[in-house]
Amino acid sequence: MARYIGPKCRKCRRYGASLCGSAKCAIIRRPTPPGPRAVRRRKISDHGQQLIEKQKVRFAYGVLETQFRRYYERAASRPGVTGNNLMQQLEERLDNVVYRAGFGRTRAQSRQLVNHGLIAVDGKKLSIPSARVRLGQEISLTERGKRSEYGKILAEEIRSRDVPGWLEIDRAALKARMASEPGPGDWEPHFNPNAVVEYYSR
Ligand code: ZN
Repeated sequence: MARYIGPKCRKCRRYGASLCGSAKCAIIRRPTPPGPRAVRRRKISDHGQQLIEKQKVRFAYGVLETQFRRYYERAASRPGVTGNNLMQQLEERLDNVVYRAGFGRTRAQSRQLVNHGLIAVDGKKLSIPSARVRLGQEISLTERGKRSEYGKILAEEIRSRDVPGWLEIDRAALKARMASEPGPGDWEPHFNPNAVVEYYSR
């Protein structure tokens, strides 16, 4: 599946926020936009700002525009706050759950783990990064994943990784269960879901 593959953290620096999700994000070391320094900043319109907020979320979760819009439309058709519905769908993507559980260092790496068949849901291999993980479901490494070089590294690394409250982690068994659904406060505070909704609803 096509997705943005560019210099590391270029988008993080452009948007002034860590979108890659890495603890070693370049924005932490160099918080300036890429390219030659802008001489003066153009005033950004409301719609321009909404576009920026939309792109930030879209790039962070690694979703193409068509699919992202579909998430928005589904979110808008459901009861509740559309922005929160949108973010919940993104958070419940398998690649994101793998990331939140600390199985991958970034969402991009987590997506690769899924693509490469190293991730199981309720004990069965599931290699679709956009698959929705449901309440009560459990993610783990497949047998191949456990045997892989990465499985050994992860068994060590996962000890020092934080996991959000909506996931129940068994670090020794490398398993994480969705104990509750992710809600407001469970995604990065630099995302502005309401601006994303305004972008699509105008
Ligand atoms: Zn980054």
